[in-house]
Amino acid sequence: MTTDQLTFQNPVDRFPSISPPKQDQPEPGLDADLAPQTDRGEHSYRGTGRLAGRRALITGADSGIGAAVAIAFAREGADVALSYLPAEEEDARYIGRVVEETGRKAVLLPGDLADSQYCASLPDRAAEALGGLDALVNNAGRQIAIEHIEDLDDDQWSSTFDVNIRAIYRISKAALRHLEPGSTIVNSTSIQAYDPSPHLVDYASTKAAINNFTKGLGQQLAPRGIRVNAVAPGPIWTPLQVSDGQPKDALPDFGKSTPLGRAGQPTELAPAYVFLTSAESSYVIGETLNVNGGTPSP
Ligand code: NAD
Ligand code: MG
Repeated sequence: MTTDQLTFQNPVDRFPSISPPKQDQPEPGLDADLAPQTDRGEHSYRGTGRLAGRRALITGADSGIGAAVAIAFAREGADVALSYLPAEEEDARYIGRVVEETGRKAVLLPGDLADSQYCASLPDRAAEALGGLDALVNNAGRQIAIEHIEDLDDDQWSSTFDVNIRAIYRISKAALRHLEPGSTIVNSTSIQAYDPSPHLVDYASTKAAINNFTKGLGQQLAPRGIRVNAVAPGPIWTPLQVSDGQPKDALPDFGKSTPLGRAGQPTELAPAYVFLTSAESSYVIGETLNVNGGTPSP
């Protein structure tokens, strides 16, 4: 069956409805060790030149949604710098190879987004390696499920906010010295911003903040010709889910309660990021594009 994004097909069974076995990985999880494996578009994404010549920095680009975005951006003609944690080197090298096989440049920039120096230096390093920077995708995030607020300690709260929203503020600010008119920022938020799960109060709060940040900064930067938007994924099968992102009992039914009846695959997110980064979305600013299998969002 053809599963690329340009072929007429039924979204219900474009990808199988998966029932992942209960499994555990230390944070951050690896795509290399995930069962079942995900579809990041390496065998299917077809580019049409929508990002020709663009130079993009993508955080969390080693795995899951960020990896699918890196592959799609390369197939659309962009060179990419990949940010990820040092522990994810195996996943990052694989995605770097897929990007290079497309004929585009892949620059690997490992580091910890909780480190303010790393955040501040990332855009400079990406711009230096790519000969400039005109697209930023703030996609990295951490999600640790905790059932009771009494067990949610200050370290977890602070770390979730540092990685999920504070890093977006830091990287976006540092990127501005490189972003010429026509450049774009796309942030990964979540359906959790509107419909928080009871065991994800810290994570969901950061995602609501990302939506709000996107709308405010979008207005601030629009007169400078820099557009800021966001993508809100629903349940997407990625390593985030098995490194304590979900309670283990929830894994076999992951994504089944969506109107489409199945979890999404990372490659199904990529076209939304491509659209918001390409010049064709020139009049779209401060928007959050929901890619969630049909669950209504405000
Ligand atoms: P993923 O685990 O593949 O990607 C998350 C990435 O974040 C990791 O690969 C890692 O590189 C990065 N990261 C985490 N902590 C970091 C740190 N301290 N320093 C540097 N990088 C760090 O999972 P994913 O599901 O593809 O997640 C991508 C984004 O999508 C996240 O922001 C997540 O919140 C969001 N999202 C995912 C889902 C889903 O169902 N998978 C749903 C809604 C939103
Ligand atoms: Mg990863």
